[in-house]
Amino acid sequence: MISAAAELIRQADRILVICHVAPDGDAIGSLLGLGRALEKLGKHPVLACADPVPRLYRYLPGQENITAHPQGEFDLVISLDCSDLQRLGAPFKEADVAGKPIINIDHHITNVNFGTVNWVDTSAAATAQMVLELVEYLGVPLDPDMATCLLNGIVTDTQGFRTPNTTPRVVAAALRLMEAGASLPYIAQQVFNRRPISQIRLWARALTEMQLDGRVLWATITPDMRRDCQMTEDGDGGLVGFLVSAVEADVAIVFAQQEDGTVEVSMRAVPGIDVSGVAFSLGGGGHPQAAGCKLQPPLEEAQRRVLQAVKEALRRQTGQ
Ligand code: AMP
Ligand code: MN
Ligand code: MN
Repeated sequence: MISAAAELIRQADRILVICHVAPDGDAIGSLLGLGRALEKLGKHPVLACADPVPRLYRYLPGQENITAHPQGEFDLVISLDCSDLQRLGAPFKEADVAGKPIINIDHHITNVNFGTVNWVDTSAAATAQMVLELVEYLGVPLDPDMATCLLNGIVTDTQGFRTPNTTPRVVAAALRLMEAGASLPYIAQQVFNRRPISQIRLWARALTEMQLDGRVLWATITPDMRRDCQMTEDGDGGLVGFLVSAVEADVAIVFAQQEDGTVEVSMRAVPGIDVSGVAFSLGGGGHPQAAGCKLQPPLEEAQRRVLQAVKEALRRQTGQ
C-alpha cells in the first residue's frame, strides 16, 4: 500500500492534502509534516481543513498556510487521519477533485476504505507515524520543522506515550524525529502543560455536575457554560481524558453541545474495553480506547442513546 501511495504521489503535481473536521494534534501534525515533504519533492500541495487550527497547535511551523477553502484544480487528494469522507467536511465537497484519485492514510479501526488507495494501519499509534514512514519511503530528508509537526502528532495521539498502542515501533519513530531535530520536551510543554484559565473554569463547571452511572462517568458542556467561562473553542479541552482516570470508571463520556444544538460525543475507555464499536454504530468512529460521534438534538435523547449503547457494550465485553 505504501508503494501504491508513493507511486500516485510521484505522478501528481497539485495535491490536495486534507484532514478531518475538528482537527486534533495528529491531524494537524500529519497535514503539516506531509505538506513540507511534498514541497521538498517539488510538488505543489494545498493543505486544507474544515475547521481552524486549535490554539494549542498554533506553535507548529506552517500552520498559518492551512486553508478551509482550497482553490484551483488538483490531480490527487491525500486524506489524513480520517475514517470516512463525510468527516473531511466542506473543503473536500467544494474542491475541484471530481474523479481524482484519493489516497486514504489512516489508523482508525473504523475506517471505511473510501480511497483509491487505502493505507489503513490500525497498529500505528498515529497517522503521523505512517506519514513519517511514507516520507522515508519517498526518500525525502527530514528537517527540524517537519520532524516537530510529525512528533506533535505522535505525542498527542499517544497522550505522551501512555496509550496501550505505544509500541517499540512508535517509540523508534519518535527517536528518528528527535534525531532530525524535534524536541520532545518542547512539544510536551506546548500540548500538555499549558491551558487557558477559561478551560479550567469550564472543567470546574462540568465536573460539579458529572455523573457516575455504573462504571460510566459522564459530563456535559453546553454553549451557556462555554459563554459563562469565556471559552471560545469547541470541544472539551481534554476533559474526557481526565474523567477516564477515575478508578471507579471503565468508560468516560463528554457530551459537548454546539451552538446549533448538535451534540459532539467524546468517549474514552480503559485498556481492555472497546468503545469504537459503539461510536461506529452511532455514525461516528475512532479507536478502541478513544472514539466519538456527532448526534442531533435534543441533548437528553443523545445522552440516553449513548449511555444505553455504552452500558450494553460494557455488559457484553465484561460479561456482567
Ligand atoms: P475525540 O473524542 O474527539 O478526541 O475523538 C476520539 C477519536 O474518535 C479520534 O480518533 C477521532 O478521530 C474519532 N472520532 C471522534 N468523533 C468522530 C466522528 N464523529 N466520526 C468519526 N470518528 C470520530
Ligand atoms: Mn485525529
Ligand atoms: Mn490519529
